Amino acid sequence: MSETALRDRVCAVGASLFRRGLTFGSTGNISVRLPDGGWLMTPTNASLGELDPARLTKLDADGHVVAGDKPTKEAFLHRVMYAKRADARAVVHLHSTHSVAVSCLHGIDPHDCLPPLTAYYVMRVGRLPLVPYYPPGDESLARAVEALAGDHHAVLLSNHGPVVAGSSLDNAMYATEELEETARIFLLLGDRATRPLTPAQVEDLRTRLKLA
Ligand SMILES: [Zn+2]
Repeated sequence: MSETALRDRVCAVGASLFRRGLTFGSTGNISVRLPDGGWLMTPTNASLGELDPARLTKLDADGHVVAGDKPTKEAFLHRVMYAKRADARAVVHLHSTHSVAVSCLHGIDPHDCLPPLTAYYVMRVGRLPLVPYYPPGDESLARAVEALAGDHHAVLLSNHGPVVAGSSLDNAMYATEELEETARIFLLLGDRATRPLTPAQVEDLRTRLKLA
């Protein structure tokens, strides 16, 4: 995809996420890898619902801003994901309500925050680790995400929200949506006795689809 097409796609994805209530205010940020090794990133203090393709931040392959507005303050979340995942072509980070709600729950498994309720969740998200809470922008948050990013394309920041990498912008968006909907289903089920997929069913899916 050309840079112009990628700029338009970032704005279209931002608008779609915003319109459907997956992000609000100036929260959430999106980045995509450019064919030359650099990145496009959503700017700081921008609503994902009203992005201007011409004002997206452009960074070179070394991470220096070369054009556009100042990047999101959460650029480091994107940087560490790309650093650890050579196949990542896009990263989506949202403060999506149901995912954030799960990230605030007491007693969830920090190695895997949500049960494998559906096959699509296993296929799109897989195992979702919880990153301990750090204030936004704290360098310790970058290190904590970096430590998990090699093994996980999706992580959930405690009391904050998900960070999801994908092999394309669409895949990163679909995985983020799958996570949010699974979080919603999980909360909807509440204390009811539920039947997540069994470990054997999860393993079978991983084998069939050659998932990590
Ligand atoms: Zn955030």
